[in-house]
Amino acid sequence: MKTTQFVIIGLGRFGSSIGRELIELGNEVLGVDRDEEKVQELSTVLTHTVIADATEEEVLRSIGARNFDCGVVAIGDDIQASILATILLKELGVKKVVAKAVSELHGRVLERIGVDRVIYPERDMGIRVAHQLVSPNLLDYIELSKQYTIAELAVPACLTGKSLAEVNPRGRFGCSVVAINKLKGIVIAPTADDVLAEKDVMVVIGTNDQIEEFQESIGSR
Ligand code: ATP
Repeated sequence: MKTTQFVIIGLGRFGSSIGRELIELGNEVLGVDRDEEKVQELSTVLTHTVIADATEEEVLRSIGARNFDCGVVAIGDDIQASILATILLKELGVKKVVAKAVSELHGRVLERIGVDRVIYPERDMGIRVAHQLVSPNLLDYIELSKQYTIAELAVPACLTGKSLAEVNPRGRFGCSVVAINKLKGIVIAPTADDVLAEKDVMVVIGTNDQIEEFQESIGSR
């Protein structure tokens, strides 16, 4: 995989966790924060770190921000600083800019100034956890659109030993099992004869309603 160069503005909990993971994934990361302590904490983890105020254009120019493939603005509380840093990264020509928003209004402003992706970490994690709390089999999900979702569903005891033909999610609910993650490896595009086992995870694609109905049918709390 090609090494991508990231610049992260703001090394709080959100920015630092993105930075650590990007490094784990083999990328190069420059971390910028005006707080010396935050920078110290990550100085041995990230590729480079700089103590600086990211709302100053000269600062971003001097660190060569325009050469980065992606900029992440991980400032939340100081909305003015978040907006200024985002505008500067965009103006300097950073190819893709992702920014954290702490409210819908903050997010709307970021969209207006051309940010490529707005992230609402607290709101999105809250929604995710709520879904997982009401659906004990739901391990994770990705919303493909407003209507379609891919969900990872743990195989409950009532389905272990059954083939996909017997469970028949497509016939009963209209959603399809596109993969089964088994302890010994992943089965892509399983057939009707594939049998579900304990600890298997089904990867299911369908409309939100279809997946919800399937979950309810297997949901043993
Ligand atoms: P988190 O939840 O990620 O810990 P937070 O919302 O509690 O973040 P923020 O105020 O959003 O905290 O700040 C995140 C980081 O951004 C802090 O480490 C802060 O020092 C840094 N920061 C804020 N403004 C600037 C700026 N103008 N230039 C550089 N760094 C900044």
